[in-house]
Amino acid sequence: MIIKVLKLIEQVYPKYLVLLVLIPVFVGYIINFDVSDKYGVFSNLLWIPIATIPYYLTKKNIFYQIIVIFYFIVGLLEITHWLLLKGPLSVASLLAISNTNFTEASEFVGVQSISLLLFLIPYTILFYLSLINIPQKYTSKYNYFLAVIILFIIGLFSIMPTTSEFLVKGTPQFTRVSYAYMSDYKKYSKAIESNQLKIVDAKLSSGNDEQLFVLIIGESASRNHMSLYNYKRETNPRLNKREDIIVFDNVVSPYSNTINSVMSMITESNVENNLPFYDAKDLIDVFSSIGFKTYWISNQPPLGWAENLISSIGSKTTSYEFVNTLSNSSYESDLKSSYDAKLFKPFAKVLKDDAPNKFIVLHLMGNHLLYTKRYPSDFDVFRSKNEKQQIIAEYDNSIFYNDYVIDNLLTIVKKNNLKKPQQSAKVIYLSDHGENVFDDEQDILGHHVIKTIPKANVEIPFLVWLSPSFITADSTKFNIIKSNIHKPFVSDDLFHAILDLSSIESPLLKKQRSLFHENFDDKRIRILSDGMDYDKK
Ligand SMILES: [Zn+2]
Repeated sequence: MIIKVLKLIEQVYPKYLVLLVLIPVFVGYIINFDVSDKYGVFSNLLWIPIATIPYYLTKKNIFYQIIVIFYFIVGLLEITHWLLLKGPLSVASLLAISNTNFTEASEFVGVQSISLLLFLIPYTILFYLSLINIPQKYTSKYNYFLAVIILFIIGLFSIMPTTSEFLVKGTPQFTRVSYAYMSDYKKYSKAIESNQLKIVDAKLSSGNDEQLFVLIIGESASRNHMSLYNYKRETNPRLNKREDIIVFDNVVSPYSNTINSVMSMITESNVENNLPFYDAKDLIDVFSSIGFKTYWISNQPPLGWAENLISSIGSKTTSYEFVNTLSNSSYESDLKSSYDAKLFKPFAKVLKDDAPNKFIVLHLMGNHLLYTKRYPSDFDVFRSKNEKQQIIAEYDNSIFYNDYVIDNLLTIVKKNNLKKPQQSAKVIYLSDHGENVFDDEQDILGHHVIKTIPKANVEIPFLVWLSPSFITADSTKFNIIKSNIHKPFVSDDLFHAILDLSSIESPLLKKQRSLFHENFDDKRIRILSDGMDYDKK
């Protein structure tokens, strides 16, 4: 009996094939366990027996060999990707590779090729062994079929039954890459094709020649968890020390989700005019039309249902880069760590570009769920034994890390500005929307909306940094900006505030909508996207 079972296991899991399939997974675990597919062993063991069913049913060797060849090609690609790029093969990474300059890429491969060969030669030998060691058929094909199906059903029940979780936990990495390529990549390309640069009527007012504008878009950051806004925990030790930032404390987002919030910030669309995002002119259109070089550097995943529209704006810039290449879907990226410090290097690099006028957008992963994936272990400072309090502590750790990120980004700009003192530089940091971390009596976690938007979902941080050259050149403007820090503002009017701060003259600019203008209309009734007046909530 025992021998029979062992023989059946040997048939279900032929040893060379199992090694061929699992070695790429283990290579990932060794190189970077944190970003690798933790369910990789499980999901592959689930599918190997299914893949070999045709062979056992037909008893034709060719069906077995096809599977071996298929897994070998996939494994080869995955190992190569891990060794060269230190991350898993993903649709986001393939997209990044296709955007990379070919010479740069081939030089890079040249350096790494020895370590690659060390891995690939034994892997090829293993492929050969798998190809010639075709397992024998001990049991009847019906017994085999039954065993495999039972195994598969047990496997399915042991993971969460929802679709997106099954896609992540129950399928091998290459299935997810192929699926994302077939569905999301096409939608992504379509979004990019249909959003072309628009030339708009705009010009720079005279005497404003050398300009840098940096817009840092945060993610799910609630000002109610920032000590900069008097939160009880010291989550902003770095920003608190800075004397060169202007802190606005009465800004809300009109929406409680990323797509709508970001789109309403960077386009002329707002909840009052309700212009369709595709038709609305955006900041990239404006800055491109007045001759600025534009950049988009994002640590959010490039494609997915929640990302395509925003990426289509980013792709209109002169130069864009997505540094978060770990995932195949929005859902997957929520579960993986891609720390915002990844933005420092590419940001410092584009600042060195000698174009006289630049507009740069940095899109952070910020404080999005899962909070524990948003900060490295050095920033794990707040803890609690209570389960709910622990989640709040994790969110606060992510805010503490965000403090480090924003502070560093500002320092990068400041250092760059010291070398170019004549350059008028401005930075705005704000979050797309807030986050409810059990902040009210409704006891909600996240930023979803049930009926009406909780206040915590829209109360966002809003900071401004201005270069000394800007302050000395226009002290009147500087004083107006400072005097407006408590004024009520909705971030869907950011478009106007940025045009105003950049001294852009355009019929698109509605001065009464700019938080930085002396004629700013602070009487706007802040009706949010749920139709409710924020100030009466
Ligand atoms: Zn968001």
